[in-house]
Amino acid sequence: MSEQSRGVTVTPQDDRYPGLVEGYNHRFTGRPEAVRLAATTQDVVDAVQDALDTGRRIAVRSGGHCFEDFTASPDIQVLIDLSPLAAVSYDERMAAFAVGGGTRLDHLYQELHDGWGVTVPAGTCFEVGVGGHICGGGYGHLSRRDGLVVDHLYAVEVVTVDDTGRARPVIATREPDDPHHDLWWAHTGGGGGNFGVVTRFWLRSAGPRPTAPEHALPRAPRRIRRADVVWSWDTLDEQSFTALLRAYTDWHEKNSAPDSPGRHIWSNLIVLHRSAGSFILNSVVDDDVPGAAELMAEQLAVLTGPGGAAPAHVEEQVVSWMDTWMPSYSWPSDPRGRYKNKAGYLRAGFTDHQLAAVHRHLTDPGYDNPMACLVLTGFGGQVNAVAPDATAVPQRDSILKASYSAGAWTAPEEDELHIAWVRRFYQDVYAETGGVPEPGDVNDGSYISYPDVDLADPVRNTSGTGWPVLYYKDNYPRLQRVKKRYDPRNVFRHALSVALPS
Ligand SMILES: Cc1cc2nc3c(=O)[nH]c(=O)nc-3n(C[C@H](O)[C@H](O)[C@H](O)COP(=O)(O)OP(=O)(O)OC[C@H]3O[C@@H](n4cnc5c(N)ncnc54)[C@H](O)[C@@H]3O)c2cc1C
Repeated sequence: MSEQSRGVTVTPQDDRYPGLVEGYNHRFTGRPEAVRLAATTQDVVDAVQDALDTGRRIAVRSGGHCFEDFTASPDIQVLIDLSPLAAVSYDERMAAFAVGGGTRLDHLYQELHDGWGVTVPAGTCFEVGVGGHICGGGYGHLSRRDGLVVDHLYAVEVVTVDDTGRARPVIATREPDDPHHDLWWAHTGGGGGNFGVVTRFWLRSAGPRPTAPEHALPRAPRRIRRADVVWSWDTLDEQSFTALLRAYTDWHEKNSAPDSPGRHIWSNLIVLHRSAGSFILNSVVDDDVPGAAELMAEQLAVLTGPGGAAPAHVEEQVVSWMDTWMPSYSWPSDPRGRYKNKAGYLRAGFTDHQLAAVHRHLTDPGYDNPMACLVLTGFGGQVNAVAPDATAVPQRDSILKASYSAGAWTAPEEDELHIAWVRRFYQDVYAETGGVPEPGDVNDGSYISYPDVDLADPVRNTSGTGWPVLYYKDNYPRLQRVKKRYDPRNVFRHALSVALPS
């Protein structure tokens, strides 16, 4: 390793090592020879250059929340950990917030909120890192109001490796005349671990250069109106369950245009497996939006009234956004949790076949796991105000994201049982389209930040549509051109990384 490096190197003998190689998904724990803790861009350049000069395979990690083994595959010899690179500040020169590539979402939210009263429409899980999250597109409970995080990405600093094997930082902005504009574009949803190491993100909403930091990003809500609705499986048969799901997707079909008043409501329907006994809807709306209470009441009436299903419990409250709701909605890591997640976008409500499959698997009497679930998360609204090729995220007319999860379980010997269930579930829901959410009237592919290596398996994906199209649709060839220009040696790679053009 280079003597000039100021970064800290942690080896397997070090007490800090286990905590640095374990991530959110304990199915995958890396065994690199070294973890390089990088606190500066130069630390990253040094770590990448050292690895290249000694022929070692590298990967970069920010928050460690990848669903698959992208930072933990057995061939990774050096893991660059960016957690010390976590400062958030306002950069007057860029007129944008500079965010270190290893910043966790909790720190980002707190700094933006406390310092300037602004925020980003990112995810609610505090432990997620910006490194993977922003590169993948990034969405959350404010996305229907404010779009994706990458719709507010102004620039990136990326440590890339050229064809001679030299590591160097490149700054790329969304300015159309920037010679590195395409590198910026690739980081608006092209996925982490593909083109280089992002050491800094600059965040600033689209439009004219802001005159003050307070105008550079969306305003943070002060108070949020939350409704939490519980349905008991005991009171639902297939017909009433299906009616509820239809009511939920219908509501999103009618309320997800970019300028719809309903864009202010964000909902998460977490349908737990029947063995949990009940399942829940969480809906929120910024309480300062005119008519917030009425908007919420209208949605609840649709879901719990005659067209939906009678709930066991409904609770509505107005609470402070940053101090109360945000921490309450973060998902803390299970220190032994093992997961298998699958996903798909919905342009419209599920077909009859899909609804029957959802009911069948969530009530499967042969499977007992109260954590297993289908989550239907509100999408659309301002996300759909952006053209499919303006960023690397092509899904710009969906209304919901579906996540299928068998997690969490803790015993390694149960891996096969749980993975088999979620695979059967997904295969059945998408049986009409080759076992995957092939783009069409209802489905629109999947989300690279919910990576699923099964999409690359011809046994599980018989659609004839390859995984790059499921994630990136028509944007994939451009991503490949960026790959060729900025990572011609394919240094940054994983099981679902952008391939060099053939
Ligand atoms: C509990 C949980 C909740 C989630 N909630 C949401 C949500 O609400 N909204 C949403 O959009 N997504 C959500 N996600 C998905 C999340 O955005 C992705 O898992 C994301 O990739 C995690 O980023 P990370 O930095 O924590 O992960 P890591 O495991 O560190 O990295 C993930 C990938 O990005 C690469 N990477 C990391 N840092 C960098 C960097 N600085 N430069 C280049 N590549 C990098 C890694 O090499 C790897 O390939 C959630 C995930 C989990 C586990």
